[in-house]
This record gives sequence, C-alpha cells and structure tokens, in this order.
Amino acid sequence: MIEMRNVDKWYGSFQALKDVSLTVLPGEKIVLCGPSGSGKSTLIRCINHLETIQKGEIVVAGHRLSDSQKVVDAVRREVGMVFQQFNLFPHKTVLENCILAPMRVRKLSRADAEATARRYLERVRIGNQAEKYPAQLSGGQQQRVAIARALCMEPKAMLFDEPTSALDPEMVKEVLDTMVSLARDGMTMICVTHEMGFARQVADRVIFMSDGEIIEENDPERFFSNP
Ligand code: ADP
Ligand code: ADP
Repeated sequence: MIEMRNVDKWYGSFQALKDVSLTVLPGEKIVLCGPSGSGKSTLIRCINHLETIQKGEIVVAGHRLSDSQKVVDAVRREVGMVFQQFNLFPHKTVLENCILAPMRVRKLSRADAEATARRYLERVRIGNQAEKYPAQLSGGQQQRVAIARALCMEPKAMLFDEPTSALDPEMVKEVLDTMVSLARDGMTMICVTHEMGFARQVADRVIFMSDGEIIEENDPERFFSNP
C-alpha cells in the first residue's frame, strides 16, 4: 500500500530523514514513535507530498510520487491525513467542512457528498453536530470531525500526526477510541503518537525513529518487553 525506499529528506543543509525504507501492507497499522525532532512528522508528510524528498522513492497505492500535480492529487485521494491541529475551516459548519473535498475532488453531487458526510459523522459518533461550527465543539469533537472529513474521501490509508497531542486529557480517549474502531475495520494506518496504550492495542508494528533514522522495528509485544 505504501512503500518508501531509501528516502533522504533535507531541509536546506539539515538532513531530517536518512535512508528511510518502510513497507506498509494493506490493512497494516504502524505506530511511529521516537523523540521530538527525530523525523516522524517529516516521514508521514513525505508520503502525501506535503514535503518533497531529495533521494529515494515513495510509491502509494501504485502511484510513484513525483512533482506531477496529477500524481500528487491521486495520492492525496488515497491517503487521508489528520494533524495535531484539526485544521477545520472555522467559518464553515461541520457538514460543509466534510463535503468540500468530496465535491471538488471526487466530483460528488452536493446530495451525495452530504449523504457521505452524514454517514462518516455518524461513524465517528458526531452526527448530531453536523450543523454546528467548529468553535462550538470541544477539541475532541473537532478532531473527530477532522477524521470524518478525511474518511469522506474514502481513502485506502490514513496518516495521523500526533492527533491527540493538542487535546485536553479527558478528550484523548474519545479520539483514540475512534482510531481503534477504524483500525478494527481494517484501515491501513500510520500513526505518530506517544499513546503507548493505543500502540499496544492496535499496532502490527511499532517503529522507533531517532535522528532521522528508523532504528528499531518490532511487534508491540517485543517492543514493550524490551526495556
Ligand atoms: P518529529 O515529528 O519527530 O518531532 P519532525 O519531522 O517534525 O520531527 O522534524 C525533524 C527535524 O527536522 C527537526 O529537527 C525539525 O526541526 C526539522 N524540521 C522540520 N520541518 C522543518 C522545516 N520546514 N525546515 C527546517 N527544518 C525542519
Ligand atoms: P511537530 O509537532 O511535528 O514536531 P513542529 O512544531 O516541529 O511540529 O513543526 C511545526 C511546523 O514547523 C511544521 O510545518 C514543520 O515542518 C515546521 N518546522 C519545524 N522545525 C522547523 C525548522 N527548524 N525550521 C523551519 N520550519 C520548521
């Protein structure tokens, strides 16, 4: 589903990814962890071309990433992304936030896009908030809207970049529960998170990064039994 081969990423003269290779099979759940600044966010941002790489190659759902806008659009359709900050449009309702991309990119009619959005808002248990504005919702609810919005594109994989780090502690669980539920449904996922309970519950592999490199890769049981 996602393949990175010998990827180097430089920000100017700083090398953020060093010869990173990673293969993610359909349905696999990967948790990426490691210290702040180790390149986790950079790694997943490269997968949907929010960052460009200098060496190596990335193939997503059969599309070999390049600067071609057509390829980038195709990859971003296949791969949904959820950020630490929810990035919802503040002046649009929850429903409007969810129908924009499906109408523009998937060319759905408004009625079909709305039906899709309502289905995924129900899926993240927030169907009754569709007419509200983001600011009227809690952080946890906003993040679930962001997840629903990504799902409305019917992606083959989802990337999560510290999705619970900006939330008050009491809201972390509702977002993790949504992610667990997605995982159980068979979604291919790469999650940057410090939530080791989540990792233990859903990860097929836990990947540890340090200083731009993947330094350890293990199944969660081994990873957590390794002091
Ligand atoms: P992590 O997600 O593990 O915290 P990041 O991928 O955000 O790490 O960052 C890896 C390194 O790359 C850090 O040292 C960070 O300062 C640097 N970095 C990230 N984005 C940029 C950028 N746009 N320009 C320059 N350096 C960056
Ligand atoms: P994260 O929470 O993923 O570590 P950061 O706070 O490091 O994120 O980065 C936030 C934004 O700033 C990102 O878009 C990242 O690419 C950019 N950034 C991070 N470090 C640098 C840097 N040293 N120079 C320029 N941009 C940076």
